[in-house]
Amino acid sequence: MKTIGLLGGMSWESSSEYYRLINQAVNRKLGGHHSAKSIMVSVDFEEVKHYQHHGEWDKATGLMIEGAQQIERGGADFLLICTNTMHKMADDVQKAIGIPLIHIADATARKIKEAGLTKIGLLGTAFTMEEEFYKGRLSSRHGLEVVVPEQDDCQLVHDIIYRELCLGEIVPESRRDYQRIIEKLVEKGCEGVILGCTEISLLIKQGDVAVPLFDTTSLHAEAAVAYALEEDEAEIGRPCG
Ligand code: GLU
Repeated sequence: MKTIGLLGGMSWESSSEYYRLINQAVNRKLGGHHSAKSIMVSVDFEEVKHYQHHGEWDKATGLMIEGAQQIERGGADFLLICTNTMHKMADDVQKAIGIPLIHIADATARKIKEAGLTKIGLLGTAFTMEEEFYKGRLSSRHGLEVVVPEQDDCQLVHDIIYRELCLGEIVPESRRDYQRIIEKLVEKGCEGVILGCTEISLLIKQGDVAVPLFDTTSLHAEAAVAYALEEDEAEIGRPCG
């Protein structure tokens, strides 16, 4: 079994989900007392959030590279960055390490394509919904048509992530807001919706909406386990970039 490297803490609420999902999946596949071999470096999210919201992306990239190199030195065979947003600098991180990075958007797109869907809604932070590093990868590499909410709704989705979900606060009114926003994406022709922030699945579950949801946390964790157990080397284990 390969050792999974996890660059986490963004936020720790979702990193603990990654840890649980990865260990449960390995145990489901191997039985007994099997669990995943993993190494996590967990950053201080206040620092990351400050850099993001002040546009200090060079410093944020430096922090991600430092964490990824620590993980590599610790003996991990490959790396997951446990957040969608911080895939903004995934290519820079990949260049700075010698182990492969499994890109969260690739793991997600793969499942969307397997489900036969082409037009897909995207919820996440404003960085993820508005910038090209994520949407662009989904469309240019994977041929998906990606739709994001209108501007006011984007702001609300973003605020709920940082004000509530990253602090572990689950507010029923925010769930209703997300349900309403998802319904609007469906009205625009979306056949499914990407939960493109690793905390959203704490708030919204498949049973809350009528269209298929693609939860990036669980799909990324699932891809990692398949690669760790060498079930899926050719398809998923390609270095990003
Ligand atoms: N975990 C979130 C994501 O998947 C947001 C936190 C962050 O800014 O990294 O994008």
